[in-house]
Amino acid sequence: MAECLFCAIAAGEIPATTVLETDRILAFRDINPQAPTHVLVIPKEHYPTVAALAAADAGLLSEVIAGAHRIAEEEGVSEIGYRVVFNTGAQAGQTVFHVHGHVLGGRPFAWPPG
Ligand code: AMP
Ligand code: ZN
Repeated sequence: MAECLFCAIAAGEIPATTVLETDRILAFRDINPQAPTHVLVIPKEHYPTVAALAAADAGLLSEVIAGAHRIAEEEGVSEIGYRVVFNTGAQAGQTVFHVHGHVLGGRPFAWPPG
């Protein structure tokens, strides 16, 4: 999709620190980390939100979630706990409209979220 930041990262046109890549998904470190582990997991194919991805390709959504768990394992936070967050829509804080799961870990998180 033209002028999509995460499509450009998936295409290798904009650099990112990749931590996991398969045929269909890519994970890279967030440029403005909010926790010791803060990785974004995306499908390489463009879908604007997790809802759009779920409706179009549930198998690909499953790969994104499995990728998130694999990253948590590799970062050493899978046992102590981590969050996978899909901000969906502007009021929830979504700023990049290419679906991405935030994998957050390495510090305690409050509930309810801010
Ligand atoms: P959201 O607000 O849920 O849409 O999340 C977008 C995330 O993308 C934010 O946490 C940003 O820090 C992150 N981000 C923006 N540009 C880049 C980039 N070039 N490389 C890595 N992460 C980025
Ligand atoms: Zn995109």
